[in-house]
Amino acid sequence: MAELKDVKGIGPKSLSLLNKIGINTIEDLVTHYPFRYDVLKRDNLAEIEDGEKIIIDGKVESVPILMRFKAGLNKMNFRLVTASGVVGVSIFNRAFLKSKLLVGTDVIVIGKLDKSKNVITANDLKMGTLTNSVKIEPVYHCTSGLTSKNMSTYINMALLMYGRDVMDYIPDEYRDRYNFVNKKTALNIIHNPSTAEKLKEVTIRLKYEELFQFMFKINYLKIQNKKEKNGLVRNIDRDKLDKFIGKIPFELTNDQKLAIDEIITDLEAPSRMNRLLQGDVGSGKTVVAFTAMYANYLCGYQSALMAPTEILATQHYLNLEKFLKGSRVKVALLTGSTSKKEKNEIYKGLMTGTINMVIGTHALIQDEVIYNNLGLVITDEQHRFGVHQRANLKNKGIKPDVLYMSATPIPRTYALTIFGDMDVSTIKERPKGRQKIDTFVKKNSEITDVLKMMYEELKKKHQIYVIAPLIEESENSDLTTVNELKDQMKLAFKDKYKIDIVHGKMASGAKDLIMEQFKNNEVQILISTTVVEVGVDVPNATTMVIFDADRFGLSTLHQLRGRVGRGTSKSQCILISDSDAERLKIMEREDDGFVIAEEDFKLRGHGDLFGTKQSGDMTFKIASIKNDYKILLQAKKDSKEYLLNKDSDSDEIKNLLINSITNG
Ligand code: ADP
Ligand code: MG
Repeated sequence: MAELKDVKGIGPKSLSLLNKIGINTIEDLVTHYPFRYDVLKRDNLAEIEDGEKIIIDGKVESVPILMRFKAGLNKMNFRLVTASGVVGVSIFNRAFLKSKLLVGTDVIVIGKLDKSKNVITANDLKMGTLTNSVKIEPVYHCTSGLTSKNMSTYINMALLMYGRDVMDYIPDEYRDRYNFVNKKTALNIIHNPSTAEKLKEVTIRLKYEELFQFMFKINYLKIQNKKEKNGLVRNIDRDKLDKFIGKIPFELTNDQKLAIDEIITDLEAPSRMNRLLQGDVGSGKTVVAFTAMYANYLCGYQSALMAPTEILATQHYLNLEKFLKGSRVKVALLTGSTSKKEKNEIYKGLMTGTINMVIGTHALIQDEVIYNNLGLVITDEQHRFGVHQRANLKNKGIKPDVLYMSATPIPRTYALTIFGDMDVSTIKERPKGRQKIDTFVKKNSEITDVLKMMYEELKKKHQIYVIAPLIEESENSDLTTVNELKDQMKLAFKDKYKIDIVHGKMASGAKDLIMEQFKNNEVQILISTTVVEVGVDVPNATTMVIFDADRFGLSTLHQLRGRVGRGTSKSQCILISDSDAERLKIMEREDDGFVIAEEDFKLRGHGDLFGTKQSGDMTFKIASIKNDYKILLQAKKDSKEYLLNKDSDSDEIKNLLINSITNG
């Protein structure tokens, strides 16, 4: 297949701009779908507002006047007679069109109307007349130096030159069954729709394709896994394992013990473990994971624990070190900010087997990481990792057992779709001594009360989390931002308490430093976006204040609330919002994450379950699990049927699989 640089018009500069926004192949380019469409009406000039974008056709009335400026810039002015009157047209850098724009020529102009001057500043001009009464113009995400218009030009050129070579992931029989157009046609239409109906039709087709490809991968892995009895057979020394458990500084809950038993049984059995460990936030999944890693270690295999953020990975690492104090187990921490030298040491240790356990972020699945005998892979907050990322682990010959951990309770129907027949362990019981977190819904006008409540806690030497949905001010939103909260809090609490900010756009080093200071109580009020959502453990923090709480799903709020109530003191959570009180009141009543998830599910659909955009495979280019659930179910059914009807070693399957994994 040709490369991006082979597309006419894409030079080195545009190539690097495209790369910058994640477009690396022709397939990436032609599936860079518009994020919206502007519908340009061919309106009566009199009805168009000042500054509005329009498309209009007419005949050239005056010989264009050309002005040339410095630096090769030029501008052309002429008058246009349209069905709704005469209008001036002004266009930059189209001097080459002058000879064609003879008086009487039919032209189509797209641009913005300046009402007072009665002039359209055109950004596009074509010969001809409009056939439709509207034009649907795609608008693309782009970057500085690369306009939506450039994007459209590149995409159309790529389609013209290589459109036929773009992989169609829908097998012929399904394309026929649903009367879908071929891939090239679909792409042509999505990027240049002539009518809304056609656009809708191909959108469904492209969504189906994307979901088919996704479910195909999942189903393939599942079917393969069932067929092969190629897991590790272990014989775990229970005495040694009990000794490890005995050293844990608290009594395990029954659910924790049960989960450990189920995992140990899986580890000993010859088929590979494929298990989901579900448990409400704070239910104590980590120690279950550590026990599994230790059992795996006892049998001589390496374990890897992947966490979605560096903060979380580091926290797990420090905890595990504590649990393993005095043992000979060698544990490493591998994240994006591990120094190059250290990284190389760790790679070496993992390859030769001197490192027994490794905890880290995505860094664990980089190409350079080769494991000696990886027997167990655990992913924390599994929904943030993609299927192919998990398939990326490079291992010497062994197929490791896999455990996924999630604090997001997944409603059953939904779980069945995504995880199929994965085994599930559930921790429902809470560790002893946990108290219910008092939750209050407050209005913005009650802020003084909230500040008083905060002050009471600060006086008791406790710490506070404050959450806001945004980092910086944005033009079209009046949501609370972390920056303005910092100013507000400073004003309220003066210099008595240290206040700081963390958010997702900070460099991870800076973020970690502040988290560390919060952990050590050098910072008393931590203002944050939802980056604290997963896993952080600061027992001295007793209050959680969430601004614009209506912006979040209940499951997210529940996760956030789970950051407090981790110590022995009574804790509270304050939700500030002027709307959506009905839904938020559920939080006052309920403290069971599963019940909350079901309620949220009923009210909001699947949207919140997979968290934010970081969710790996869950971010599709065109489909959305929330809105396209029906298409997903169909794609699931079809892809499974397809796989079962074909020999898994056939070229068709292999071809689809290879393309899905490299491009998906
Ligand atoms: P999560 O399931 O949300 O990942 P963690 O594993 O982080 O929860 O556990 C939350 C906190 O509870 C940790 O500080 C952990 O040490 C503690 N913990 C876990 N299990 C128990 C238990 N059985 N008894 C008391 N504390 C526990
Ligand atoms: Mg956790």
